[in-house]
Amino acid sequence: MGARLYQRLVEDSAVRLVCLSDTHILHRRIPEMPDGDALIHVGDCLGAGTLDDVRDLDDWLGSLPHAHKIVIAGNHDWAFQEAGEFARQALTQAIYLEDSGMEIDGLKFWGSPWTPTFLDWCFMQDRGAPIRTKWDLMPSEPDILITHGPPAGVGDEVATGFKAQNVGYKDLLQRIQIIRPQLHIFGHIHEGHGEYCHAGTRFVNASACRDSISQLFYILRCTRYEFS
Ligand SMILES: [Zn+2]
Repeated sequence: MGARLYQRLVEDSAVRLVCLSDTHILHRRIPEMPDGDALIHVGDCLGAGTLDDVRDLDDWLGSLPHAHKIVIAGNHDWAFQEAGEFARQALTQAIYLEDSGMEIDGLKFWGSPWTPTFLDWCFMQDRGAPIRTKWDLMPSEPDILITHGPPAGVGDEVATGFKAQNVGYKDLLQRIQIIRPQLHIFGHIHEGHGEYCHAGTRFVNASACRDSISQLFYILRCTRYEFS
């Protein structure tokens, strides 16, 4: 595919995305979900990670008005790894992305659940070559990249005692610099919630699991570009 040609911002055709992650089965505590064109759950949507959790999530998603819903798994979402076929069948109200993509109104999405090995959770690969095989699957120039975990240095800071530490992934940042998404949405590191801009890409850490359950969502308007 040739180079993406940025022509102009088309404010009227902006796509309104509602993003959230790390709800850990507490989605029903969200007091009010904002409307939008697409709802994107960026992983750690389940509690114990059972199929019953998936059915509960699906039931909740079905009650929401968004025309499009996208879900990826996180390291707590065991059902999608251990019983993938059944979990996908149970998730009837959303498109599930796992190293795969889809398009909404001309916007190209790519979703990936992987995080580097940390204790014993699901969808993990060792840093370096093993996890790079997952990043390498990401196509060039997706409009919106969705991963459960953060790139290095962007919304990835955790407090360890008196010292803050960046725990994001250098390999993922390198891949992002190659494929150049317009927007990267991730979660996983709860403390990093917020919006960032780095080297021409907008980043959103949509983690909702913080000290308050009242801000369980992140809204942004992703302005659509025209392509040729
Ligand atoms: Zn996580």
